[in-house]
Amino acid sequence: MRYSNLFGKTNKMAPADADSANARLLIQGGFVDQEMAGVYTWLPLGLSVLRKVEQIVREEMDALGANEIFMPSLQPKEYWITTNRWEGVDILFKLNSQTGKEYALGCTHEEVVTPLAQKFTHSYKDLPFAVYQINTKFRDELRAKSGVLRGREFRMKDMYSFHTNQEDLTAFYNRALEAYVKAYTRCGLKVKVVQASGGIFTENVSHEFQALTDAGEDKLIACTACEFGQNSEVATLKAGDACPKCSGALAEMKGVEVGNIFDLGTKYSDAFDLNFAHEDGTKKRVLMGCYGIGTTRLVGSIVETSHDEKGIIWPKSVAPFQVHLVSLKGKDEGSEVVSAAAEALYVNLKQAGVEVLWDDRDLSPGAKFADADLIGIPLRLVISSKSLAGQNIEWKERNVADSRLVPQVSVLSEIQSFIARS
Ligand SMILES: [Zn+2]
Repeated sequence: MRYSNLFGKTNKMAPADADSANARLLIQGGFVDQEMAGVYTWLPLGLSVLRKVEQIVREEMDALGANEIFMPSLQPKEYWITTNRWEGVDILFKLNSQTGKEYALGCTHEEVVTPLAQKFTHSYKDLPFAVYQINTKFRDELRAKSGVLRGREFRMKDMYSFHTNQEDLTAFYNRALEAYVKAYTRCGLKVKVVQASGGIFTENVSHEFQALTDAGEDKLIACTACEFGQNSEVATLKAGDACPKCSGALAEMKGVEVGNIFDLGTKYSDAFDLNFAHEDGTKKRVLMGCYGIGTTRLVGSIVETSHDEKGIIWPKSVAPFQVHLVSLKGKDEGSEVVSAAAEALYVNLKQAGVEVLWDDRDLSPGAKFADADLIGIPLRLVISSKSLAGQNIEWKERNVADSRLVPQVSVLSEIQSFIARS
């Protein structure tokens, strides 16, 4: 992609009302645009990151054997009455139709997926199964804040699993927990797995996943060696105690919740009378689990945990592009040579399958470098008449202070090994 052809540009000025690093950097870098408080347009750069994050999450859910579906956001009021959540959930958006009917705008999908499962669940032979979707969710927040971390409209992956017995549900729940940790790790996030209360979902066991950042709202007592953690509000342990899992030292930390999983038991199958015929002929309740990851929130959390004063530092796995090519035309007679060399490398990289953003604008080196740091692509390549004189290209990794020169002839193979290194 040529930067001159990219819709959505960087801003020199930080937005006045940005209350967090993710809001400031995603808006300044041209990743998102704020439509109103808590509601964002994802511009091409941001959408590219979001798609990569969602693909990682999708692959990990597929690996669990879950099936991807796509459920409606518009949901009938009756289903929410059935679960006692029409009045019980204060952040539920409610819509009035001109027909006189009322609808919910989904903040979660138990009210859709449970009646759906009922249509396909008859005997024990139909179980277990898990379905998931990646969809837009709505929350009627009194105060939207922290950029894309707490929005009124956001993207989320939610999965629901259905089982004949507790042992089977627990086994799947534990596999899902591992899949979550794997998905976060692949996205470049370190998380703590915190046992939590189920809130509006359940009174049974649940876990939340906390990405560590000083910008986090949640206080944790967590292990410095493994992923064990407890929410400070309900912690039975304190800083300095030994980790019950690995006996490492526990310390106070701050985190952002990036996902949660719940053992729902029979809460929703009771409400919707979701049963199956057991092998012995008796009718039994289906057991359910639910598993959520806010994917737009995940992008915001990556920014919170991976940036410096100059801009974002994207992990390679989710960066909008792998290479940020900068050509410095200068004013001397070599400028045509620089443009030709940059174009040749750009075409070459694209043909080799390397994702490259080429800053082809006629701007000063300082302005181009500042934008490259702000956008945060892992590898910056600079072509100038100076570098070309030695048949070199300047190589600068976003998270490394110094640059170095790489011979033009070996730059493609070096890029390929750079991308392959995790
Ligand atoms: Zn530990």
